[in-house]
Amino acid sequence: MDLRYTEAEEGFRAELRAWLASALPTLPGKPDRADWPGRRAYDTAWQRMLFDAGYAGVHWPVEAGGRGATPTEHLIFLEETERAGAPYVGANFVGLLHAGPTINAAGTEEQRRRYLPGILSGDDVWCQGFSEPGAGSDLAALRTRAVRDGDEYVLNGSKIWTSHAEVADYCEMLVRTDPDAPKHKGISWLIVPMDAPGLSVRPLDTIMGTSEFAEVFLDDVRVPVANRVGEENDGWRVTMVTLSFERGTAFVSEVVACRRLLRELASLARAMPRSPDATAWDDTTLRRELGHLTAEFEALWALTKWNVSKASRSGVPGVGGSVFKLRFSETKQKAYDLAHRLLGRAALCVEDVAGLPSGALVDERLSSLSYTIAAGTSQIQRNIVGERILGLPKER
Ligand SMILES: Cc1cc2nc3c(=O)[nH]c(=O)nc-3n(C[C@H](O)[C@H](O)[C@H](O)COP(=O)(O)OP(=O)(O)OC[C@H]3O[C@@H](n4cnc5c(N)ncnc54)[C@H](O)[C@@H]3O)c2cc1C
Repeated sequence: MDLRYTEAEEGFRAELRAWLASALPTLPGKPDRADWPGRRAYDTAWQRMLFDAGYAGVHWPVEAGGRGATPTEHLIFLEETERAGAPYVGANFVGLLHAGPTINAAGTEEQRRRYLPGILSGDDVWCQGFSEPGAGSDLAALRTRAVRDGDEYVLNGSKIWTSHAEVADYCEMLVRTDPDAPKHKGISWLIVPMDAPGLSVRPLDTIMGTSEFAEVFLDDVRVPVANRVGEENDGWRVTMVTLSFERGTAFVSEVVACRRLLRELASLARAMPRSPDATAWDDTTLRRELGHLTAEFEALWALTKWNVSKASRSGVPGVGGSVFKLRFSETKQKAYDLAHRLLGRAALCVEDVAGLPSGALVDERLSSLSYTIAAGTSQIQRNIVGERILGLPKER
């Protein structure tokens, strides 16, 4: 991969930058962080604006409704949207970053036609029903049953930690279709409408005081067999496609956000008095830490480029996504730890204090704690790296 930008790529950047400058001021105000319906409306309004301007699913293939951007253009898109302060993918995360790409890679033509346009336009929000009580890291231990009845499956069981379930239209859901098969062989990957009779959602409070995720209960929920992606009992293979997107490319825009965070922390440190003639910036330990984190994020950005490039050639990100997920989630926590120490006593408050951006920083710091758990814990990523990249003996 040639990392230099061509004239055409610089042209893409200029065109995008100009569009962002005209589009962003027209976005409605950001809703309160606890207002999930408001956040859905905001995130999907932004997605609609991207769609109308031809930037939705910028890296999706043209046949799937995307722009078919090159890997470099995709990275330019992430850099420019972040630089302009455009909204984060938010409620569109699952649809845009892993359910849509999975349907595109493993679904039927009919499924692509039916579900991809709603994801790209922001009309449909998706959630992910993989985890269950007793089936998180050991995902294949899931027990939610789907019993075939003619052209339908009848679902019974429950899911947990389902992000955005409260406001989602569809769920990418794993169900057990053969309880007698070895656990990885009896699973199917289903598209479940969230308004199906018998499906109920109970929000869970997070450490930030918002209900980001929920429990989902299934009581004789009927789902057409046509909603299955991949063959019956072959859902584990489809799941590997989903997880590779989730770990490999879904978090890339956040690397750009973290690089911006470090620049903001440097400015904050320069402005924060520590004594009559010194600021926080005079603390060499703090500067060394900032330098170290900057180097870490530069390395992560290089890894991102490698992952995105690989994904674009094979259609699916490789196992390198686990290296990225592991390193990124831990480094992000270190960056917010530093922000916390820089804030001092203001870090005890969830609102802005004394003109400091403590509200947002404290919120992000609390949220960063979940990064080493969500989408597979650090221990599980280490197992994957050990076994599948380094070739170490398999865990028993
Ligand atoms: C913010 C957030 C959002 C989430 N959103 C979703 C969502 O939308 N949809 C969804 O389906 N799930 C979601 N999850 C769930 C997430 O995928 C699981 O929490 C995660 O896979 C870990 O599973 P668990 O919580 O059951 O922990 P467990 O599997 O019970 O693990 C507990 C501890 O044991 C360790 N451990 C377990 N097995 C091993 C092993 N073999 N080797 C070494 N250590 C091991 C783990 O690393 C962990 O430290 C979300 C989680 C969070 C935090």
